[in-house]
Amino acid sequence: MHLPDMNLLQYSEVEKAAQRLHGVAHRTPVLTSRTADQAAGAQLFFKCENLQRMGAFKFRGAYNALAKFSAEERRAGVLTYSSGNHAQAIALSASLLGMGSTIIMPHDAPELKVAATKGYGGAVISYNRYTEDREEIGRRLARERGMTLIPPYDHPDVICGQGTAAKELFDEVGQLDVLLVCLGGGGLLAGSALAAAALSPSCRVIGVEPEAGDDGLQSLRAGRVVHIAVPDTIADGAKVTHLGEHNFAVILRHVDDIVTVSDAQLVATMKFFAERMKMVVEPTGCLAAAAALHHVLPLEGKRVGILISGGNVDLAAFAKLVG
Ligand SMILES: *Cc1c(COP(=O)(O)O)cnc(C)c1O
Repeated sequence: MHLPDMNLLQYSEVEKAAQRLHGVAHRTPVLTSRTADQAAGAQLFFKCENLQRMGAFKFRGAYNALAKFSAEERRAGVLTYSSGNHAQAIALSASLLGMGSTIIMPHDAPELKVAATKGYGGAVISYNRYTEDREEIGRRLARERGMTLIPPYDHPDVICGQGTAAKELFDEVGQLDVLLVCLGGGGLLAGSALAAAALSPSCRVIGVEPEAGDDGLQSLRAGRVVHIAVPDTIADGAKVTHLGEHNFAVILRHVDDIVTVSDAQLVATMKFFAERMKMVVEPTGCLAAAAALHHVLPLEGKRVGILISGGNVDLAAFAKLVG
C-alpha cells in the first residue's frame, strides 16, 4: 500500500485554504485566445491572477496564513520580508483581519510596490539586498517585537493558499495535460502541484524560471536546494537565490520538470498580452506563458494551463520595456 508521507503537505490543506478565501479573494477569470493557441500549437487556458486583489496570487497565501493566527498572534501583528507582491498581500490581508503589519523591503524595490504596501497600511523597513540578509533581519525583529513572521514562500499555509488558484483552474476547465507555473521561491509551484496531483493526476506540472536564475532547475537535478547569487532579470518577482525547504519537498515529489525563458521572451510575452489580450502583466507574470508561446517545451495538441501570476508593473517601466 502507498502510504502518504506525513511530513509532506496534503491537498486537503489546499481545500481548507479555499474555504478561508471564499468570498474574500477574487475567483479570477480563465481566459482563452485563438491567437495564442495558434502560436503555441496547443489549447491554452490562462488563469488570470493579475486580476486578483492587490494584483497577484500572493493575496491567497498571505490571507490564508493570517486567517489562521490566534487572537494573541493577531494582537502582536505580522512581520515579513518581500521584494514586492507578498508585501502588499500581507499588508492588505492584515488590514482586512484588523491587525498591524511590518514589511522589510529591499531598498531597490519597485516604487509602485513600496507605495502600494504603505497604502494598504503596512509599515515599511528598507534593507540592502546585496549586503544584508533579510531572513536574519526578520528573525531578529520578530524576536524583539513578538510578531509572527510569515515569509513569502517557505511556509505551509502560504503554499496551500497559493494552491487555490490552480484548484480553481482545474475546477473550471477539468483535466489538463500540462500545467505551466512561474517559479521564484516555489510557493505557487508547490501549491499548484498539490492541486494538480489531486485533481488532474496525469497532468505534467512544469516550473518556469528566468534563464538568469535557474536555481530551481539546478536543484531539481541535484536533488537538493541549490543557492545562487541574486539573478539579474526583469522578472523581479523571481529574483530569489534559492527555493524554500517546504516548497522543494513538494516540488521534488510532484513537479515533472523545470524550464527557463529569457528576458527577451518575457518582453515579447508582455507585448502579446497587451496587444492581443488587452491585459497588463508584469514580467514575472509572463514566465509560464512565455514558455508556451516560444516553444520552450513540446506542447503540440495538448490542453495546457498557464498561471499568469501578477500584473503589478510601473506604467513607465512597462512602456519602456514594450516600447
Ligand atoms: C512572488 C511572485 C512569483 C514567484 O512566486 P513564488 O511563490 O515565490 O515561486 C511569480 N510572479 C509574481 C507576480 C509574484 O509576485
